[in-house]
Amino acid sequence: MVSLTQRSVKVVNKKMTFGERIYLPAVFGGMWITLKHFFKKHETIAYPEVQRPMSNVYRGQHVLKKDEQGRERCTACGLCAVACPAEAITMDAAERVKGEEHLYREEKYAAKYEINMLRCIFCGLCEEACPKEAIFLTDRIVDADFGRNEFIYGKDKLVEPTNQRIDVSKRQNWDYKN
Ligand code: SF4
Ligand code: SF4
Repeated sequence: MVSLTQRSVKVVNKKMTFGERIYLPAVFGGMWITLKHFFKKHETIAYPEVQRPMSNVYRGQHVLKKDEQGRERCTACGLCAVACPAEAITMDAAERVKGEEHLYREEKYAAKYEINMLRCIFCGLCEEACPKEAIFLTDRIVDADFGRNEFIYGKDKLVEPTNQRIDVSKRQNWDYKN
C-alpha cells in the first residue's frame, strides 16, 4: 500500500549493545542532566509577592466595555459566540425598553452574557468579531478557584464598572512591527 505521507518509519528489531543492556550510561546521563540544573538560575518565583513583567500584548480576562456615557455597548448580536473556536460564549438577548436608554446603547442588549473561562483559550477572536467594540481581552489574570462553576463569568464579572474604567489601549496601540 502506498503511504499518504513520507513519515512512515520502518520498525527494526535492533539488538541492544552491552552498554544499553546494563542501563548505567543512560542512568548516569539522566543524573548528569539533573545535576546541571542545581547550578542553573531558578526559573520559579514567589508569586504572588513577586510578579513577572507581562507582555505588552498579553491577552487575559475579558471586559464588556461601556461607552463614554456609561451605557453597555454590547448589542447581543452573537458574532463573538460564533467566532469563538472554544464555544465558550453564551448569551440571552433582550429588547431595551423605554427608560433604559441610559443603560444600553443599542435597542437590543445582552440580558445574560457568560464566558466559560475554562474553555476559553484567550485567542482574541471574539474581540476581532465584535462590530460594536464591546468586548476586549485585558491584561488581567483570571483568578484561580476551586470549583468549576466559579469559572463561568457572567455580566457581574465582565461588564466594566462605570466608576472604574478598564484601559484596553495598551495592546490595541501596540506596534507589532517593533
Ligand atoms: S478569547 Fe477566543 S476562546 Fe476565549 S471567548 Fe474569545 S473567542 Fe472564545
Ligand atoms: S460582545 Fe460584540 S460581538 Fe459579542 S454579542 Fe456583544 S456586540 Fe455582538
